[in-house]
Amino acid sequence: MEPSDGGGGSTGRRPTIMLIEDDLDLVAMCDAYLTRAGFQVARTPDAAGARGRLDEVDLVVLDLGLPDSDGLDLLRTLRQGQHEKLPVIVVTGRGDEADRVVGLELGADDYLVKPFFLRELVARIRAVLRRSGTGAPAPPVIHLGGLVIDTGAHVIRAAGEQIALTPREYRLLEFLATTPGRVYSREQLLAHVWESSVEWQAPATVDEHVYRIRRKLTDAGVRVPKITTVRGFGYRLDP
Ligand code: CA
Repeated sequence: MEPSDGGGGSTGRRPTIMLIEDDLDLVAMCDAYLTRAGFQVARTPDAAGARGRLDEVDLVVLDLGLPDSDGLDLLRTLRQGQHEKLPVIVVTGRGDEADRVVGLELGADDYLVKPFFLRELVARIRAVLRRSGTGAPAPPVIHLGGLVIDTGAHVIRAAGEQIALTPREYRLLEFLATTPGRVYSREQLLAHVWESSVEWQAPATVDEHVYRIRRKLTDAGVRVPKITTVRGFGYRLDP
């Protein structure tokens, strides 16, 4: 592990997050999102793949339902061995209350219940890293075409001019910009941007927001990324 500067923790070093998770679609989504958020990502679909690679890791996101072993066994091994202090966030399915409790008793630093929101994952990782003294990277400034997205200040500029977005429009555009080229369904966008679902919110809400963002981006008058409709599925941002 690289030495820490002992200071504010914003040395530009990218902390490495290991995702131990067998849901590969979820892993791909988390990987892209975390990478954009300033982290390095290591991935393994099972416990065996994690062993021997943990020395270079700053935090582990551990799914408790793994194909080759119980995630709790892996956590127990970590806590009894040389990785006693390695920050671990456990991930459980809804209804696995007992696993969650045992996970915390075994020394997990936090937990997430599936399905979780990507913003939530990043927020938890940042909080655990801060508590553990590793420090988290500063929220990044994303440059995409003519757009500059300051994810710390929650401001988007084109040609130096701030684009007037509502908080929800900002979050939707930031979310799509975090993983450009990736298609999200309206349901996924409702989940990750609205933290809601089709039971609570009409999918047309997403369409209305996309419509308004497109208009504002067009008005910005520079070459900016475009939100593309993927017929029958949803939306993606093309840089
Ligand atoms: Ca699993």
